[in-house]
Amino acid sequence: MKKHNFGAGPSILPQEVFEQSAQACIEYDGIGLSILEISHRSKEFTAILDESMALIKELLQVPDDYSILFLQGGANMQFNMIPYNILNEEETANFVETDIWATRAEEETRLYGKTNIIASSKVDNFTYIPKDFTVDKNATYLHLTSNNTIYGTEFFDDKAYPIPVVCDMSSDIFSRPVDVSKYHIIYAGAQKNLGCSGITLVIIKNEWLGRAKRPKSKMWDYSIYAKNNSLYNTPPVFAIYTCLLTLRWLKNLGGLAEMEQRNIAKADLLYSEIDRNPLFKGHAVKEDRSRMNINFIATNPDDEALFLEFVKPYNIHGIKGYRTVGGFRASCYNALPIESVEVLVKAMQDFERSKA
Ligand code: PMP
Repeated sequence: MKKHNFGAGPSILPQEVFEQSAQACIEYDGIGLSILEISHRSKEFTAILDESMALIKELLQVPDDYSILFLQGGANMQFNMIPYNILNEEETANFVETDIWATRAEEETRLYGKTNIIASSKVDNFTYIPKDFTVDKNATYLHLTSNNTIYGTEFFDDKAYPIPVVCDMSSDIFSRPVDVSKYHIIYAGAQKNLGCSGITLVIIKNEWLGRAKRPKSKMWDYSIYAKNNSLYNTPPVFAIYTCLLTLRWLKNLGGLAEMEQRNIAKADLLYSEIDRNPLFKGHAVKEDRSRMNINFIATNPDDEALFLEFVKPYNIHGIKGYRTVGGFRASCYNALPIESVEVLVKAMQDFERSKA
């Protein structure tokens, strides 16, 4: 029986994506070959790549002066590729530190240029998104993490800033409409809302291609990937195919506005129970609560292990909090059905009854 998968990533994908991609491993589209054995230069893969790019552009309404790139190495690689491609040694990038991932992005950026953490919620255990910060107008860019996967906070608006914005959207991309024009770079590992792991999406404003003056390795040069339609070397064909299937699913259900409504409904349901049930307590302040990663703790720390055991017969998987944080984290990515959230809420209510 399929489990209710609240895992933080790699995570649940739509059931039809599992089924269609499994079938494609046996035979892709009646051509007598598996998706795993076709050339990345074949007409079949060219069609997969082109349709994926077109759907990303359509769903996110990416303006014409941006390039859409498929890269490897995960978001962690982008912590390096972004400053390598954009930031000259004497220039500065500003960071808002809202999670361990933002910390890592800043640490890697220091290898290529100067950095300044202009706001941080670290001392408060990343329970909120800092709001009143001043951006250094001479900095080259501001780096944000739109959704903070580990601590469960999220930026919901695409604010305009006086300098270009670079945003790590690894864990909330495609969960709601985004105004791409407010960002110079958006990047995201695929393995939450887009497809299986092994592929990273980068959306970059064309005027930034080739920006940093350092001599560049071709494998790390955004402009090489832009020129070669992300086919400078062999891309992960299967991973890109799972993205295409997920994007088709997203379009068919009504696109990002519909997805956002569904994500709001799931998050409201779970947060209401967290707030109602005296055995549990939310981690983040209400106004910054993530819809994607819902973090909470047991009011009595002794209940933590008990509840993890209690949910097993409910077929619930993946609610243990991040290894350095503890508590619980229910990731409610796009593909998680509301029925799974209902089962978790029921388990929380039954747990309360069992303790009464
Ligand atoms: N940024 C965020 C917001 C993440 O959630 C993650 C992974 N969970 C990463 C970066 C790192 O991604 P990857 O493992 O693809 O390098």
